[in-house]
Amino acid sequence: MLYRYLKPFGYAINISDIDVPRLLGYNIRGVILDIDNTLVPWGSWNIPEDSLRFVQSLKRVGIRCCLLSNTDDRARALSIGRELDLPVITNAFKPLPFKFLKAIMILGLKKEDVVSIGDQLFMDVFGSNLVGIRCILVKPLTDRDFFSTRILRILERRLIPRLLKEVEYFGDIRP
Ligand SMILES: [Mg+2]
Repeated sequence: MLYRYLKPFGYAINISDIDVPRLLGYNIRGVILDIDNTLVPWGSWNIPEDSLRFVQSLKRVGIRCCLLSNTDDRARALSIGRELDLPVITNAFKPLPFKFLKAIMILGLKKEDVVSIGDQLFMDVFGSNLVGIRCILVKPLTDRDFFSTRILRILERRLIPRLLKEVEYFGDIRP
């Protein structure tokens, strides 16, 4: 039962590996993007070139984006949002559904047209499944994390191999 809610729709190594035409093939018109360890290394103010390019490639094909993060560092999240010219939601309390729903509202799309991308099974994947949107799980950019997240990582590492069976790989680099 819980297992079903932890299963991602797809996975990739890095967000920059995600094949954008394939998203379009699934009629995805909006992306909810996690910030820490998905878009930028944990706690970083700087957006890696690859991440910048990925967001630009989404915009180029008309896919709308919204940043959704559990961080309480609003200044940093807003700075990243400003640089990417994207709306930002902080203090999201993922996996709770409220801010996911807010992000979907900001995107102005239906749930079935939206995918979320994140690096945490118990926040990004679980939360997305709770609200009924698809989620692509990516490998965290760094090993650095909140202490509580590091504990969850131990659990994730045991669950992920099983969960990723029969899950579509969205990248162009094989793991
Ligand atoms: Mg994250």
